[in-house]
Amino acid sequence: MDIQRLNEVLAAAGEPAYRGSQVWEWVARGAESYEEMTNLPAGLRGRLEVDLPISTLSVRGEARSDDGTVKTLFDTGDGRPIEAVLMRYRDGRRSVCVSSQSGCPLTCTFCATGKMKFARNLTADEILDQVLHFRRVEAVDHVVFMGMGEPTMNIDNVLAACERLPDIGVTNRRTAISTVGWVPGIERIAEYEKPIALALSLHAPNDALRSQLMPVNDRYPLSEVLAACDRYRAKRRRKVFVEYVMLDGVNDLPEHARELAALLDPRIYKINLIPYNPTGAYDGSSPERIEQFRAILHEHRVPATVRLTRGRDIDAACGQLAAKAAA
Ligand code: SAH
Repeated sequence: MDIQRLNEVLAAAGEPAYRGSQVWEWVARGAESYEEMTNLPAGLRGRLEVDLPISTLSVRGEARSDDGTVKTLFDTGDGRPIEAVLMRYRDGRRSVCVSSQSGCPLTCTFCATGKMKFARNLTADEILDQVLHFRRVEAVDHVVFMGMGEPTMNIDNVLAACERLPDIGVTNRRTAISTVGWVPGIERIAEYEKPIALALSLHAPNDALRSQLMPVNDRYPLSEVLAACDRYRAKRRRKVFVEYVMLDGVNDLPEHARELAALLDPRIYKINLIPYNPTGAYDGSSPERIEQFRAILHEHRVPATVRLTRGRDIDAACGQLAAKAAA
């Protein structure tokens, strides 16, 4: 919901200031229409119905996976495509993966979003409306900024959205921001007083290979990125999750595992190995190769887990978001 516009409409209607919070409370609890907001005067409800859409986003399409994952394609008010994914887990967890930008200005070679045209940063309202879309169906308790875009390049709006996520039922502790290693953005998250989780897309244990996979590494090389993550750990007292996408024959060899183990201090980092979701450029490592990689890390006392892939059958898995319907 466009909160600024809400306040303008309320002011024009001569309504007291507290009406804004009343409306937001309803929306945050999953109200689908103004009709439900029974503590608002009927006349005002009618006026809002006409003057202010309940979401800044319109739904263009939806896909459902056999594993319960739902991917929704939205259009912003100015027609930019974005996608968000609801993941349902057996233990009851409901996690929404949100986009922070339409498209992405970075060009990681393995990622589908990187091939899409970059449009613009999303507003805090547009980020929250992705979560609210799913909140209208069921309660959600986790949010990950792992959809389209690089959240740290839109950090003001991302943090503004984080401020209001607890109203929707998602604490900052259960919110994670994933970054390619954009150093000023990591600094901001370290300075932010709330305990937001930090995930780093590392994908390679040395600069040469990382630059090949992620051109952003030329701007912020490994040593600078890891120094920023160390500072986050020291300030926020939370470990950093390292994401490492497993590319067959590229970054998944035993020597890469050993190099990675030497690079990462297990007191600071937890590694999550991500099976590659093919988007054309590479082949994914076999499950045996991933297991061998994990075992080598383990031998070096660096614990690692393998990410459960969700929604692959509907192109909703990591790195597959590219708003194909819009292309
Ligand atoms: N720009 C941020 C947020 C995107 S998060 C970041 O890069 O961290 C999406 C995660 O999925 C990142 O770790 C990204 O590297 C990873 N990813 C991208 N393409 C993928 C693919 N095809 N298969 C598996 N993971 C992929």
